[in-house]
Amino acid sequence: MNQLVSPFEVYVRIRPLTEKEINNSSNDLSHYLKQDPSSSEILFKEPGTSQFKKYTFNGVFPENITNLQVYTLTVKKLVQFIKEGYNSTCFAYGCTGSGKTHTMFGHMNSKDNEPGNVIHALQECLELIQNNENSKLKLSYLEIYNEKVADLLSAGDPRNLMIIEDFQKGIQVPGLSEFEIVNLKDAYNLVIEGNQKRVKAPTSANELSTRSHAILQFTLEQKISSGEVLSSKLSLIDLAGSERGSASENNSQRMVEGANINRSLLALGNCINILSGEKKRACHVPYRDSKLTRLLKDSLGGNTRTIMIACISKSFTAYEETLNTLRYAQRASMI
Ligand code: ADP
Ligand code: MG
Repeated sequence: MNQLVSPFEVYVRIRPLTEKEINNSSNDLSHYLKQDPSSSEILFKEPGTSQFKKYTFNGVFPENITNLQVYTLTVKKLVQFIKEGYNSTCFAYGCTGSGKTHTMFGHMNSKDNEPGNVIHALQECLELIQNNENSKLKLSYLEIYNEKVADLLSAGDPRNLMIIEDFQKGIQVPGLSEFEIVNLKDAYNLVIEGNQKRVKAPTSANELSTRSHAILQFTLEQKISSGEVLSSKLSLIDLAGSERGSASENNSQRMVEGANINRSLLALGNCINILSGEKKRACHVPYRDSKLTRLLKDSLGGNTRTIMIACISKSFTAYEETLNTLRYAQRASMI
């Protein structure tokens, strides 16, 4: 049931128009984007032509799909995988406003909440440890902003943490806070606390655009019969908006941020492209090209599983960014 078929899976999630967007009828992308809900393809009208290009993925989630359905088809499979002792990663990619945070976190504070991947995964991981007294679950939460790693759960303000590679333990971030999780409420509060600490800045694309990559890591430690501890990590990532900053509208700090965001996203795309391609043995994987890929070195490729959820919106204003996202996702999936 729900077995992963390949070490990399790429899904596209289409978010519906918001109420405000619906009132603006010229805002609908439907004439440019065609998707048959039963297929895993998207037809997208190329700029300057009347031609539609076909993009194929492991799956496409149409507008009406819920966060729980997305979880069941994506991260749930990764939870199963970490139970078996392997690292795995899920990240949400897309421009600001495309639905990344909705997919990964859902509405954490509102009453009509629809929990996202993070909460569903926490719930399921907690069930795992409750059914196995020889196991522990730990949580850490960090962000990468301007190529600097910051702890989102630290009482102080330790920014610019180092990423090191330990021969036995894999990738480590010395000084990063880690909390043992025993119930959902405490975990939930930690995630909210971390979210509040994320770097936010006004940009032209969105009032509070998220400019950092947020990385939540669950570590599952299971004592096996030999007495050894099997440790595996699930990384859930809300990437920074993939839009390109424009010189006229954004100030110089935003430009630097934009360059760093693009650098990480480009490095991530390059690593995935090599790892999912046929030439993977012959090629050098450029993990060192960004902090994001360095951090994920033991969670991308090898014996790991990765799921990318590329988020796009039905809004015409995002046409250009949607095209960029489809191209990025297609390139990563190599289907
Ligand atoms: P991002 O994190 O990519 O910037 P958000 O997740 O904040 O985007 O989504 C932008 C807006 O669209 C939010 O108001 C969010 O509630 C809404 N939204 C996103 N995805 C969906 C969805 N699948 N269904 C309903 N509303 C959504
Ligand atoms: Mg967001």
